[in-house]
Amino acid sequence: MSAPELKITRIDVFTVNLPYSGGTYHLSGGRTYTHFDATIVRITAQSTSRSSPPNTSTIEGWGESTPFGTTYAPSHALGVRAAIATIAPELIGLDPRRVDRINDAMDSALAGHLDAKTALDVACWDIFGKSVGLPVCELLGGRTNVPLPMISSLGVCAPEEMRAQVQKYRDEGYLGHSIKIGTNPVNDAAIITAALADKQESEFFLVDANCGLTPEHALRMLRLLPSGLDFVLESPCATWRETMSLRRRTDVPIIFDELATDEASLARMISDDAVEGIGLKISKAGGLTRARKQRDICIAAGYTVSVQDTTGSDISFAAIVHLAQTVPEKNLRCILNSRGMVTLQTADTGFEVDGKGVKAGKEPGLGIKVRVDVLREPVASYT
Ligand SMILES: [Mg+2]
Repeated sequence: MSAPELKITRIDVFTVNLPYSGGTYHLSGGRTYTHFDATIVRITAQSTSRSSPPNTSTIEGWGESTPFGTTYAPSHALGVRAAIATIAPELIGLDPRRVDRINDAMDSALAGHLDAKTALDVACWDIFGKSVGLPVCELLGGRTNVPLPMISSLGVCAPEEMRAQVQKYRDEGYLGHSIKIGTNPVNDAAIITAALADKQESEFFLVDANCGLTPEHALRMLRLLPSGLDFVLESPCATWRETMSLRRRTDVPIIFDELATDEASLARMISDDAVEGIGLKISKAGGLTRARKQRDICIAAGYTVSVQDTTGSDISFAAIVHLAQTVPEKNLRCILNSRGMVTLQTADTGFEVDGKGVKAGKEPGLGIKVRVDVLREPVASYT
């Protein structure tokens, strides 16, 4: 029996405002965020059996792209929606299961704008999974069955407040903590010391400067720390040159996030021996199709991977879980609990959560039930 034909017939775009669950989020350089402008996409595909007479049915797939404000990375919500307006008409009539060909079509319609392409790409994977009755993680290579440890994301704050914040998330079962720094060397050293003061053996810490340090700042800060603190330094500097200069003079493990943009940057990282791992953000990679390639390159290089996104609600979180569920345990650092960073719930998920982490469910596709009432009416539709 041959598989039914599947064609994209409609793309709807929704927007929701996601309030940050912690009030105001502080990053290096004085950047602040109170809410996130999310773009959510629903792709409808029509399935037609090759029987006579043919049966038709529809399958819906969902994806999300939520930039972290307008100053974290070169992406913003208005740009996401403008890019989708350019790309979406070109996808009508295509088979959403041919994910690489979908990406070819998106690239033919618009260069770059990977953040916008993410929502469309993830929605295609959701449809692909539903069309064959398999969870997305199985299509991405198969689940590892490893519980995925969750990492908190704690904005810049006073040292003792950071220590209290870490304890709060520790009490909630988080095994990882992403500590934001970027004030001055003395205060940053105090933040790190306080954050790690009660560190448990099973915990790990990413100290994330979000590109906010000069090499001088970083070196002075590192010299002020007590010896033996167990953490990795994430995105210390804004440029490749600064980071490589710093790397030559410290033995602290370094991971890239903002500078890990695509496969070409990964190839350069490996050839320069620049880092020990990356923050693999799905909307930075351009969706699951490209993120799976980055995953494989990282595994080949012996990197650790923290599977994340530039925040986002339950739909983004579902994509994070399915990709992370395919990363071998020794390469998987953690996953970002993006949905815990916002107060609005956009979907119900059946993911198993216990003291060791999250596991992807067994339902087809992303395994989510989107709360359509929360999304209200589409802001744009393409047929
Ligand atoms: Mg980061």
